[in-house]
Amino acid sequence: MPTETKTTCPYCGVGCGVIARVDDEGVVSVKGDPDHPANFGRLCSKGSALAETIDLDGRLHHPEIAGERAGWDEALDLMAQRFSDAIAEHGPDSVAFYVSGQLLTEDYYVANKLMKGFVGSANIDTNSRLCMSSSVAGHRRAFGSDTVPGCYEDIELADLVILTGSNLAWCHPVLYQRLAAAKAARPGMKVVVIDPRRTMTADIADMHLAIRPDGDVALFNGLLAHLAKSTAIDENYLAAHTMGFAAAFATASSMTFTELMDRTGLGANEIRQFFALFERTEKVVTCYSQGVNQSSSGTDKVNAILNCHLATGRIGRHGMGPFSLTGQPNAMGGREVGGLANMLAAHMAIESADDRDRVQRFWGSPTIADRPGLKAVDLFEAVADGRIKALWIMATNPVVSMPDADAVEAAIRACPFVVVSDVMKTTDTARHAHVLLPSLGWGEKDGTVTNSERRISRQRSVLPAPSEARADWWQLAEVARRMGFLGFEYTTPTEIFAEHAALSAFENDGSRDFDIGAYAGIGPAGYEAMMPFQWPAPAQEGRKTTRFFANGHFYHPDRKARFIAVTPAETERTSVDYPFTLNTGRIRDQWHTMTRTGKSARLSAHIAEPFAELHPRDARELGVGSAGLVELESPHGMAVVRALVTERQARGNVFVPMHWNDQFAAKARIDALVPPLIDRVSGQPASKNVAIAVRPF
Ligand code: SF4
Repeated sequence: MPTETKTTCPYCGVGCGVIARVDDEGVVSVKGDPDHPANFGRLCSKGSALAETIDLDGRLHHPEIAGERAGWDEALDLMAQRFSDAIAEHGPDSVAFYVSGQLLTEDYYVANKLMKGFVGSANIDTNSRLCMSSSVAGHRRAFGSDTVPGCYEDIELADLVILTGSNLAWCHPVLYQRLAAAKAARPGMKVVVIDPRRTMTADIADMHLAIRPDGDVALFNGLLAHLAKSTAIDENYLAAHTMGFAAAFATASSMTFTELMDRTGLGANEIRQFFALFERTEKVVTCYSQGVNQSSSGTDKVNAILNCHLATGRIGRHGMGPFSLTGQPNAMGGREVGGLANMLAAHMAIESADDRDRVQRFWGSPTIADRPGLKAVDLFEAVADGRIKALWIMATNPVVSMPDADAVEAAIRACPFVVVSDVMKTTDTARHAHVLLPSLGWGEKDGTVTNSERRISRQRSVLPAPSEARADWWQLAEVARRMGFLGFEYTTPTEIFAEHAALSAFENDGSRDFDIGAYAGIGPAGYEAMMPFQWPAPAQEGRKTTRFFANGHFYHPDRKARFIAVTPAETERTSVDYPFTLNTGRIRDQWHTMTRTGKSARLSAHIAEPFAELHPRDARELGVGSAGLVELESPHGMAVVRALVTERQARGNVFVPMHWNDQFAAKARIDALVPPLIDRVSGQPASKNVAIAVRPF
């Protein structure tokens, strides 16, 4: 008999519900889940092509050691030995995990517990560092916790939706569909897109502000200064619920209007129109994504946006608020379990002795990391200089996706012991592994993910595990057990989720935002039947929509939010030798480094090869014809891709997608050109403002 199973799309942070049907021959087909509150039945091109990407071609079927097939026991024993040896000889900080927003929350939980509570290091970081860590840092500075205030419904309820650094139409397509439907139903709704490029998202916009790269702090500082002199400022809210407005306003208002125009590259009229629109529209949602986060001033950009919402009290209420849109399907779940080098678990702080004591007692662990570990860029630098002796990479392909990708590849190649857990046998990173472990893919694995609006949904298995592939949490627990650690006797993801839920509620008097303790006692039947729920809604309230901060209570000790005074940084990076600004990003129909979406002929038909978007005048001056090849070069690396000449691109700027790797194109790993420059607060790399040279090839 055919079966139908409710599960969740594994691609972007929208977290759409999917119904996977398996027919009598075992063939899988998918459709959107009409009951899932993220998508109400919609799917985008990637989600609807899921069934085309789950064949077993290229899959890793068995563990391998040094390129030869090995048994699980042999591989796991070797790993436990090599990690234990490194710790004994060089200390806990000589080992590291580099994990992924593709992991399920249960996988993430076990990885974080093993590294922080049992190895005793915080050297576990994730590719989510590249995605939204500036939002985490900005939230924590302003709110005292990493809390996303609103929900998707707010985007539909708003009278003004600002999309800054977000190509929603391509990167969060189902949310874009919801926005477009809401705007069609209420034509009075305004949409402003702030982006150097005229992206597909800008086609729906009433106003497109083609801002200079990294001009966001100046723009939102200018907005704050404008609002402070208007009736939109909410004096009562400021007094009752915030601290630090005077300093933020003083900093923001120190910039002249001429300087504002210069830093943003925008004209006086369009700036004034944008400010007036924000001022007069109470129901405003500001969505932001990688264009804000992937910057050397990413955290300041986030706080500049939050400042404007705090100043007007437009937060936590229907149709209002700042909204961080996460790139990955489970970036939020990773944050919940503390899967970043500077977090602990269940939104507790690694810097807090009380939190460390609480988590250690809960885990019954022999130790606990007492300071932040190495964040992604620093972690691979430590691999390069020999401080890391043993590295475990799970569900990610840093040889393509990390900045300074060639240097990252050299570092991994030189590392004494590298383990890669993946579903695919030949990724750019897997070929440098001493031990390769076959993991379960979408449709096979079982657990939970959290989307951008804090909604936890189940990913369910509908297919048997191929060959010897095993769950990532199982691999971690087996290595932990072989290293002699107690507390990893899990037999199902249900047990892990129940422990994670119990930790969220453990000694939680309401001073911590994350609490799904109502699920602590969940058994296999309850876990199997779990419907999508949005924390902090109690379990029994199921699909109820929730918002934070409606009551003006934040998570700093005095319960007040903080304005952060932010100053626009000097971000002009071009020079005579490198006169163009490279902006990297995603396209509609590919995901990450294409190890899965690259399997679908339908998805690859949208855009078949890597490209560099150039303005027509730049192309003419360079002598580059449309579809001609161009060589792109920075001090860190080079790439050769096809020119896409388009008026959508701003002069002096070049957009190149980050997906292609050496499997799909000869020289298109664009992150090889990106320098390892990071935001000083969040550690997030700056992948959108890179000085490069462009030449005809
Ligand atoms: Fe999947 Fe994102 Fe598309 Fe939804 S919008 S179907 S989560 S890729």
